[in-house]
Amino acid sequence: MRIAVIGGGVIGLTTAYSLVRQGHQVELIERRDEVALETSFANGGQLSYRYVSPLADAGVPLQALGWMLRRDDAPLRFRPRVSPHQWRWCLRFLLACRRSVNRRNAAHLLRLALHSQQILCTWREQDRLDGFDWRANGKLVIYRDRASLRKASPGVDDTAGQRLLDAGQCVDVEPALAPLAAALQGGIYSPGDEAADCHQFCQQLLQRLCGLPAFRLHAGQAVTALRTERNRVQAIMLDEGELAVDHLVVAAGTASVALLRPLGIDLSIYPLKGYSLTLPLAGEANVPQTNVTDYDNKVVYARLGDQLRVAAMVDIGGWDNDLDPGRIGTLQRLASETFPAAGDYRNARQWAGLRPATPEGTPLLGRSGVDNLWLNVGHGSLGFTLACGSADLLSSLIGGYLPAVSLDGLTLTT
Ligand SMILES: Cc1cc2nc3c(=O)[nH]c(=O)nc-3n(C[C@H](O)[C@H](O)[C@H](O)COP(=O)(O)OP(=O)(O)OC[C@H]3O[C@@H](n4cnc5c(N)ncnc54)[C@H](O)[C@@H]3O)c2cc1C
Repeated sequence: MRIAVIGGGVIGLTTAYSLVRQGHQVELIERRDEVALETSFANGGQLSYRYVSPLADAGVPLQALGWMLRRDDAPLRFRPRVSPHQWRWCLRFLLACRRSVNRRNAAHLLRLALHSQQILCTWREQDRLDGFDWRANGKLVIYRDRASLRKASPGVDDTAGQRLLDAGQCVDVEPALAPLAAALQGGIYSPGDEAADCHQFCQQLLQRLCGLPAFRLHAGQAVTALRTERNRVQAIMLDEGELAVDHLVVAAGTASVALLRPLGIDLSIYPLKGYSLTLPLAGEANVPQTNVTDYDNKVVYARLGDQLRVAAMVDIGGWDNDLDPGRIGTLQRLASETFPAAGDYRNARQWAGLRPATPEGTPLLGRSGVDNLWLNVGHGSLGFTLACGSADLLSSLIGGYLPAVSLDGLTLTT
């Protein structure tokens, strides 16, 4: 069976890897000259398997109104556009902010995330996949605001190994927080969570795939159109010509929206722009060893090899991924106030990327309405975390097997 996968980000690459593992012939098409140069390039690096609550939550709309009055230092910034797509997305986002909907979507994400952790573990152990700075170092979400901690506490899942900590216990878990102890109200610790470098992970997957006869990469080739007949994709149009397919997986991140619109498939995915800094560690002292999320500032920190990755912010306002100096300045300030000795934030590598987000925060996996066209899109803030599990579920569906976990709440409803 000849399967084409559009998109060489972490979602497309894990999909290709999983399909090849199941014995299929796979052609991966990537418009850039190399893989993982877009949103999978310099994300937060967190494999946040147990902390998956969607952005849409009770209280967020009200908070967002307050943030609109702030400029560069608001965790979330909204710029209205003359765009029905944006308005429809925002309306669905507001509906998803109800507490009951948030809880339901968080449960769907948790199920997928825990499956993802198992699949990555299998690939690391059975296939000896390595070379991407993977660490099982746990995740600590710190709270500076008492009300935020009180709101989050009922969600602590001790069956998943999570623990509620006071400020002193936070410092015991992460000694680099000691200078901040007086400002902390407490934290939620998930010892089973992990971190890794997403770009390096993608490179490792590609390296493995390129050694196999069942795999072919078409790099520097943009898919410009899909040719369909009788509700089936017959071929995809590339710069180099037409490529016939038996099955097609769309994993093109935010670009999936425009690619599928001509087929009448309306994906409610909007780009949520975020920013990151990457800096060499100044030494071993006062550097976080655990993945830290500063909840009230909405900033995440992960140690990746001998570098620190700092990521944050959500800009809802368009499709460009330009660096905004005001946002970068805020990120540099917040990080240097939190872990001042970790390194030189002014000379950090700066990056911006577009999270391909659904209003509900849950990805769209599986059938698209066109018989042989499959979706693996819309992973938002959790694409690295959810990639291996999503790839495994999708390749089971294409291969005609029963998926290992339920796809309830994770599919396109038309
Ligand atoms: C600031 C920030 C921090 C983040 N932190 C985390 C984190 O800590 N943990 C986590 O799990 N997730 C995190 N994420 C989210 C994660 O990075 C994304 O969910 C994930 O990278 C999305 O992967 P993707 O493969 O869907 O998209 P992409 O990586 O964007 O890949 C899509 C690919 O498709 C290609 N493409 C598009 N159109 C075409 C076409 N027509 N023809 C051929 N190729 C095409 C593109 O060139 C691109 O390479 C973060 C995101 C941001 C922005």
